Amino acid sequence: MNCQNPTLVKYSEGSLEIKLCDEIEISQTDHSASQLIKQVFVIEDFDELDKLANSWLKKKCLAIDTEFERRTTFYAKLALVQVYDGEAIYLIDPLEVDCPDSLREVLENPKISKILHSSKEDLEVLYTSWNCQLAGLFDTQVAYRFINNELSIGYAKLVEELTGHLVSKQQTKSDWIKRPLSNEQLSYAARDVLYLIDIYKLLKEQLSDKDYRHYFQAECDEYCVNGPCKIDTPADFRDAKDVWQLNETDLGLFKLLFNWREKKAKTDDKTRNHIIHDQGLVHLTKMKPNSTNQLKVIQDLHPRSIRLYADDWFDIISKWKSSRQQSIATVPNPRDVHQLKALSTALESMVKSVAKVNQVSHTLLLSKRSIRKLAFSILTDSQPPSQWSGWRKALLEESVKQKAKQFIVQ
Ligand SMILES: [Zn+2]
Repeated sequence: MNCQNPTLVKYSEGSLEIKLCDEIEISQTDHSASQLIKQVFVIEDFDELDKLANSWLKKKCLAIDTEFERRTTFYAKLALVQVYDGEAIYLIDPLEVDCPDSLREVLENPKISKILHSSKEDLEVLYTSWNCQLAGLFDTQVAYRFINNELSIGYAKLVEELTGHLVSKQQTKSDWIKRPLSNEQLSYAARDVLYLIDIYKLLKEQLSDKDYRHYFQAECDEYCVNGPCKIDTPADFRDAKDVWQLNETDLGLFKLLFNWREKKAKTDDKTRNHIIHDQGLVHLTKMKPNSTNQLKVIQDLHPRSIRLYADDWFDIISKWKSSRQQSIATVPNPRDVHQLKALSTALESMVKSVAKVNQVSHTLLLSKRSIRKLAFSILTDSQPPSQWSGWRKALLEESVKQKAKQFIVQ
């Protein structure tokens, strides 16, 4: 299709218009040229946003996207929220306005469909920045995956495939925190929601007569719960890399160091690896240093980490040394777990056949990585993978139990 990208025709006093090429299909009915022009508004005023949100309470669906920044921080920083209500596009500047209760009500109302593409991080940032737990999600990437048995498809590719429009990806890596945002950024941000309602209609139609549509909805609902949950749930020290190298006494120290990092990541708002990576914690545990000189032999330990945190580590280590040391059940090395491979293989073929019966892709039902972790948890009596919940667990649990019996009895 020989269709140009929407071109910016006007930008003045906080509003701009994106002129669409004449080939866009908004619906089957005839459109006058004026209807092909979408207005885009930049929202920086609380009362204005409040008024808008109240009008959105009457909508059946809204297309939403966010832009955010997360390089070395634990929490993503919300930089822009785009909403397309089927009539106009609104670019909400969260650096200027907070989320009004009315908007939170819209976002948390499950009866208003919220259309997002690849929504996991958007859900997370809306929760941490606006304290808003979205409901009524329709994730177009997830829908496409259910329908086409394929791994994730990008927004640009999906738009092109379903509508024939070309969307530029140029601004993906631009700085969304800086102000003012450029026209290119605003235009790009608007395009990210512009096609979502059309795509939603097409995908919804394709899903309508399929039995797996219930699983699709369950998956979207679980996204809404799990995103915020992931932020609130502390990581488990038993999942750390190389943790199997530690004995039961040292594991007590490791747990203290690991939990310190968990707390530090949140209070200092830095990624875990930015503070110290898992292997670094394992090294500290084995070595039990009490001076910075000793730290030099630990590979990949950033001088900044040493400067900022070494005193904390020494403190934890010396307190642990003088305390009554708790011993903790060790974590087995996956390589030493007898029958891990055999059980994983058996579970994989079982997942494939359950997937086939239910007409969903087997990697969507349970990823290879989750299957391996599930097998590991069965054989070592440890925590199952996070994917092991909801509709997946409901579909698979009985068969997994049957399979597991054959392996545990032996
Ligand atoms: Zn975007």
